[in-house]
Parts: sequence; C-alpha cells; structure tokens
Amino acid sequence: MSASPSPSRKKRVVLLGATGSIGENTLRVIAAHRDKLELVGVAARSNWQKLAAIARQFDVRCVGVFDDAACGEARKNTAAFPAGTRVMGGLAGLTELAQLPAADVVLVAVVGTTGLEPALAALAAGKDLALASKEILVLAGKFILAEARRHGARLLPVDSEHNAVFQCLEGHPQAGVRRIVLTASGGAFRDWSSERLEHVTPADAIKHPNWSMGPKITVDSATLANKGLELIEAQCLFGLRPDQCTAVIHPQSIVHCLVEFTDGAMLAQLSPPSMTFPIQHALLYPERAPGVDSALDFTRLLELEFRPVDEVRFPMLRLARNSMVAGGVAPAVYNAANEVAVAAFLEGRIPFLAIPRVVEQTLGSCPNFEPGDLSAVLSADTDARRVAALRVQSVSL
Ligand code: NDP
Ligand code: MG
Repeated sequence: MSASPSPSRKKRVVLLGATGSIGENTLRVIAAHRDKLELVGVAARSNWQKLAAIARQFDVRCVGVFDDAACGEARKNTAAFPAGTRVMGGLAGLTELAQLPAADVVLVAVVGTTGLEPALAALAAGKDLALASKEILVLAGKFILAEARRHGARLLPVDSEHNAVFQCLEGHPQAGVRRIVLTASGGAFRDWSSERLEHVTPADAIKHPNWSMGPKITVDSATLANKGLELIEAQCLFGLRPDQCTAVIHPQSIVHCLVEFTDGAMLAQLSPPSMTFPIQHALLYPERAPGVDSALDFTRLLELEFRPVDEVRFPMLRLARNSMVAGGVAPAVYNAANEVAVAAFLEGRIPFLAIPRVVEQTLGSCPNFEPGDLSAVLSADTDARRVAALRVQSVSL
C-alpha cells in the first residue's frame, strides 16, 4: 500500500539534504504551499546551525545530523532548536528519519550515495520516495526499484530531466516509446577547446551558466558526467534499453527532455531552469498548483537551440554509455570512480582532464559481473573507490 494521503490532508515531508541547493529549493516550495505540504523531518551532514534555523522556521521536531562531531554540537545547543526537538545522529539517524511514522514522502537530496540506505528504508516503510540523488539509482537502481515494487511505494523523480520524462510518458504505453532525449546545458565549458580544458581550475568548474547547484554536480555538469549519470538513471527508472536513452546539448535549459514515439511524434517538457518546478511536481503529485517561480514568458524572444554532444571533448558521456551497455556493476564503478576523481579535482589534487582518465582506468581495472544482491554492488563500489584513489595518486599535476 502506498502511503499517499488523501488530497484533503497535507502531505508530510522528510527532507534529507535540507541545507543544500535542492534542499533550499524544496523549502521554497514547502513555504509556498503550507496548506498542502508540511515539513516533519530534516537532515544534513554537518551544518546543524542551518538545520536549526530551518527547524525553527518550519517548526520541525525531528532533525538528523550525519557527522558525529556536528551532531554532538547540535545536542549541546538544544536552545537553537524548537522545544522538544529530537536530534538523531549518523546514518542510523537518517534512516530512522526516512521511516518516521508521521511522514508520507521522503525527499532524498544528499549528495553522493549516502542516501541509499535511508531511501531503501523509506520504501520499505511504504513512503513515497522523491529522489534527487541520482548517484543512488546509478549504484543500485534495480534493488531500489524492486524495493518500491515489493512495498507498493512510489518513486517520484526530482532530477529535472527525469521528472520531465515522467510527465511526458504519463498515459502513454511503453511499447509506443522509441527513445528519450535528455537535454544537457553543456556546463561551464560547453564551448571551450580541448587545449583550454587542460587548464581548468576548480573555481572555473563550479560556475554553471544556467543552474545554481552544489559543487559536485556542477563539476559533473562541466565534464558531462552528470548527463552520463542521468542516462543510466533514466534507463533504470523507465525500464528502457541503453540505445533508447540519448542526450542533446540545449544551452538554454528550458526544454528538459523530449520523448520520441514510434510514429516519430515527440513530446517535450518545458519550464524555466529552476528546480522548484520538478520538486513541486514530485511533492504535490498528482496535484498541480501555482508555481513558486514565474513560468515562461512568450511576450519576449525565446530561442531554443539544440546541438549534438561532442564525446571527444567530453569523454565522460561515452564512458557512461559504455557502462550502461555493459550493465552489471559497471555503472556503479563509473559512479564511484567519478566521485573519487571529482573530490580530488575539487581539492586541487588532479587536473580537470584527469577526471575521465581516472574513471576510464578504474572501469578497465575492475571486473564486471551481475550483482546478485545489494551487498555485491556495495563491495564493487568500495573496490572501485580504492582503485580510483590509487589512480588519483598516480596522476601528476
Ligand atoms: P549540495 O552540495 O548543495 O547539498 C548537499 C546536501 O547533502 C547538503 O544538505 C549536505 O549537508 C547534505 N549531505 C552531504 N553529505 C551528507 C551525509 N553524509 N549525510 C547527510 N547529509 C549529507 O548538493 P545539491 O543539493 O546540489 O545536490 C544534492 C543531490 O541532488 C545530488 O545527488 C545531486 O546530484 C542531485 N541533484 C541536484 C540538482 C541541483 O540542481 N542542485 C539537480 C538534480 C539532482 P551539509 O550542508 O551539512 O554538508
Ligand atoms: Mg538533471
């Protein structure tokens, strides 16, 4: 049974990753729809002061702090939180929050794969899972989908392209779908030459032309690993073959996806580049309500441009496609190696162009196999991180 409440009752939301970019946009959506949405739990890694401010603003009494030291600080500063607040620590705390009896929907927006266990716990408790953390689906998509099916829980995509595909596919039989096309802004270096890409700094890479996002996903947008992860995410979410999942550069980030049907007709989903649109769709689904940000304005010139992706300058897309075709644990290895390489790049330990090299070498070194259970995927993830860390060490700046 799904935990979806009747339309007359407020949906009660737990938000993991409340202090981040998706978290902030989610809070804007909830603040604008207090008659329909109620925040009942929030969590972050270490920023307990910001969590306390959110808890006061939304009168939330259940708070999760992943980091031990920060959790200790939060517990010492109970006056910063509303009276009677419970502060839960570590992964166990996040997992307990994901199963809060009071919650209807859990939005997972924790960067990386830490949200996997809480996401599975939310599904096991029959909650709707609104998923922003794409890394989780790339790591363990088939197990997440199986858990959702087992418990009759709904998986609502928050990533803008997947939320768009979800909207375009609704009411259309799968057999009529030829392919989906995810749009990519092209990131910070869309028009940079390979020579110029040699000298990219972390400061260059965390400036995105259209979206304001956390540092990891902004670097992923610049390498196009973000689109690679999203192709794998889409294949998993919508049960498609790898050759049905494609990408195109669309610099304006207004069309979020195109779905092509077997007769050649295409449906597209458009909205301005703000995550409040997909977040609101996922949280209120299937209801619609006025948006937080202004809709598109057709009284002004609006140009929509599409270009093919250059996989020579941006090899992370090619590597993602190869991983998707290989199947097994290859997508998990791709994701793990990318996380390690991006962290090393952001810390100034490897150059930008070493990110795809580290990922390609890690994919070449790790054996691929069909994982029988979640623990097999998790151990492939751990092995890949170890191999990628060694590759990082051997890269000279
Ligand atoms: P940010 O870096 O802005 O925020 C990350 C959030 O996760 C923060 O709240 C952070 O807490 C929290 N966090 C990090 N590690 C842990 C942990 N171990 N336990 C608990 N909380 C943790 O990231 P974004 O909001 O940009 O992205 C979040 C996820 O959403 C990513 O998976 C990303 O790929 C996905 N996504 C993001 C989009 C965007 O527009 N930003 C679009 C589509 C998908 P703290 O502040 O304490 O560090
Ligand atoms: Mg996206």
